[in-house]
Amino acid sequence: MPTDLATVPAGREGLRWPVEPAQGGWYTEAEHAAVRAVMAESDDWRVGWKAGDYTVRFEDAFAHYTGAGCAVAFNSGGTALEMCLAYLELRPGDEVISCAVQFTGPHLAVIHQGGRLVLAEPEPETLSLDPCDVERVLGPRTRAIIVTHWNGAVADLRPFLDLADRHPHPVHGPPVVIVDAARACGGCSGTGVRVGAEGWATVFSFESKKLMSTFGQGGMVTTNDPALAGRLRWLRTYGGTEHWGTNQLMSKVQAAVGLVQLERLDEMNQARILRAHDRTRALAGIDELTTPPQLDEQRHLYYRHNLLVPDAWAGHGRDRLMHLLAKRHGVGSIISDRPAYQFHRLVAEHTAGQRCPRAEQLTARLLCPCLHPQMSPAEEQQVADAIREAIAHLARTHPTD
Ligand SMILES: *Cc1c(COP(=O)(O)O)cnc(C)c1O
Repeated sequence: MPTDLATVPAGREGLRWPVEPAQGGWYTEAEHAAVRAVMAESDDWRVGWKAGDYTVRFEDAFAHYTGAGCAVAFNSGGTALEMCLAYLELRPGDEVISCAVQFTGPHLAVIHQGGRLVLAEPEPETLSLDPCDVERVLGPRTRAIIVTHWNGAVADLRPFLDLADRHPHPVHGPPVVIVDAARACGGCSGTGVRVGAEGWATVFSFESKKLMSTFGQGGMVTTNDPALAGRLRWLRTYGGTEHWGTNQLMSKVQAAVGLVQLERLDEMNQARILRAHDRTRALAGIDELTTPPQLDEQRHLYYRHNLLVPDAWAGHGRDRLMHLLAKRHGVGSIISDRPAYQFHRLVAEHTAGQRCPRAEQLTARLLCPCLHPQMSPAEEQQVADAIREAIAHLARTHPTD
């Protein structure tokens, strides 16, 4: 049984409910109409495809929605995050803290920008970065802390902002808090503040699977720091007349669709939250499963519905469960995400000597079966039944005690 596979199965074949890479966004006639309008207008050679106005409108609407001072659109969340780090002009030895349970992209951005990636543990409930463990690894070289709202669970930023204030860098002052909200667009903190309004910079992704999408690729940074916003605008368009820069612009048709998706974001998130809460309820009482916390008021958007199996099933048992779900029930699932140093050579070499045993243990127990806001209640019931049956089957063949 392959244990190096994050998605089971790797393709979509035979699946009724895929997770990755097949899962896409939710588009309506409104998005189709927006695309037709942009095409009709841009077909005129005197008008063309320069995004200009559309991007400005999308950015303004996004800043207004999140409550942030400025928003800057990018061609992806990955480049958006990397350009926030580029602004810091990291020097050799400068450290950036990030959770060991994280998508590989942000790790690579730190490494490429010349920082030293310092890994910290997730907290066991949501798998978001654990402030206590950040305190362990924070030091005089720390320039930034990347806080990722893991799989839609909105982390409280205050402990990280407090830690940063208490541990200023000798030259640059308190480390900045960069929020990776690629999986939490539209979420709210416990105090009712919208994701994107707090922290130095918040990065969003509009990739195909994300909570809102601009035709499969796209990203945004929100910030209250006008200096950062100004520099980001140059970084994404060839540096103006002074700085380094490259082309990381979003296209016109993406910005036009983004405006519509943003209008529909709350509705799409609400549908997803309903499905997730249905699933948590349907799986209640299964001793072998730990379900995700049930939070209201958009404090958890359930980008993924994290399930944890018992320690006795960590690794092989969990893998068997994923295969049972796929083969017998057509339900795809994903381990979202194992520590990158376990499977990515560059990250492994860069972080040699660092280990996060809690992250390893938790992700050996983790699986995230397919969840999508467009699934009907009947489909959701079938997926929950499949999970229940697969667990019962595994319990007969692999008792946990
Ligand atoms: C998707 C994602 C990114 C990167 O976004 P892209 O737009 O795909 O480049 C970064 N961090 C997390 C947690 C993500 O899920």
